[in-house]
Amino acid sequence: WGCALTDTDNFQIGRSQRVVALAGGVGGARLADGLAQMMPADQLTVIVNVGDDFSHFGLHISPDLDTVCYTLAQMDNTETGWGLAGETWHTLESLDRLGAETWFHLGDHDLATHLERTRRMQAGDSLSQVTASFCQHWGVKTRVLTATDHKVPTLVYTNEGTLSFQEYFVHRQCIPSVSGFRFEDIEHARPAPGVLEALFQADLVILCPSNPWVSIDPILAIQGIRKTIEDRRRKVDLPVVAVSPIIAGHTVKGPAAKMYQEMGLTPSALTVANHYGSLLSGFVMDCQDADAEANVQALGLKTLITDTIMRDRAGRKRLAEEIMRRLGDKR
Ligand code: GDP
Ligand code: CA
Repeated sequence: WGCALTDTDNFQIGRSQRVVALAGGVGGARLADGLAQMMPADQLTVIVNVGDDFSHFGLHISPDLDTVCYTLAQMDNTETGWGLAGETWHTLESLDRLGAETWFHLGDHDLATHLERTRRMQAGDSLSQVTASFCQHWGVKTRVLTATDHKVPTLVYTNEGTLSFQEYFVHRQCIPSVSGFRFEDIEHARPAPGVLEALFQADLVILCPSNPWVSIDPILAIQGIRKTIEDRRRKVDLPVVAVSPIIAGHTVKGPAAKMYQEMGLTPSALTVANHYGSLLSGFVMDCQDADAEANVQALGLKTLITDTIMRDRAGRKRLAEEIMRRLGDKR
């Protein structure tokens, strides 16, 4: 796209620089992996959306947590963008034969995650505890935190009525027109253990190129999270950087652009920058959107224009390095 990329080979992150990334599923997982490749594991914390979590066949399913963990463990299925590599589907086929619902694709190996998570939670463990344990077993060294241990299911208001998130996203394939969202019971949710501590200690907060409406907003809406980031922005000039999931008016994957349109907003990098508003100090946008840079800067944001499409693991690392080098400190 005529985007001159700078060489980042020799970039070294500051030895004590602590980074907190807020992530949904695929876009979040990709950048989280890029960050994990370039910094010591104890300097990175990823806080993951649980608004998509739901119960299916009695199992507790956490799609975004699993996408982030599978990706960090390099077990992810790069073709589908979700689930495990080398997955098989015997259980789903057998369920189909029984006339059971099969719109949510549960792979045989993936099922083990949901079975064991559900068993442990029924035995009294929190989602946080289960996640920490799974990460240990999967060899994920990065600290992956659930945004909250409370249930805060996302509801989608549409022209076909109010739908649960997975009903909208998977079953109805994002076809209904969206008019708004609700994160159920969010007023009662508290950040999971470690979340506010990580934000208090962060030298940089990154909002990954995840869906602003249904991946990042449900994290920010949990009591104390947005406020902690805002307070530290004001008091210690904490750098907070978002990466646009919208490129040339489109998403790489998923309904974020369609959602903006249906809510009466032009899907664009500028719209995403406006979405987060005063929370941000910096904004990363794709070369294809370079003509909007002045408008984003007019919001008072530092900008980084680069190739933001993470095609492979090296591309994820390169983007992470560039963000750290260009927007990673207060200067
Ligand atoms: P989900 O929970 O799996 O839907 O994933 P997220 O909310 O984390 O990510 C969805 C968003 O990621 C979409 O809006 C995509 O445009 C964005 N996305 C996915 N891959 C990339 C990428 O390589 N670069 C950028 N900039 N955005 C991406
Ligand atoms: Ca998701």
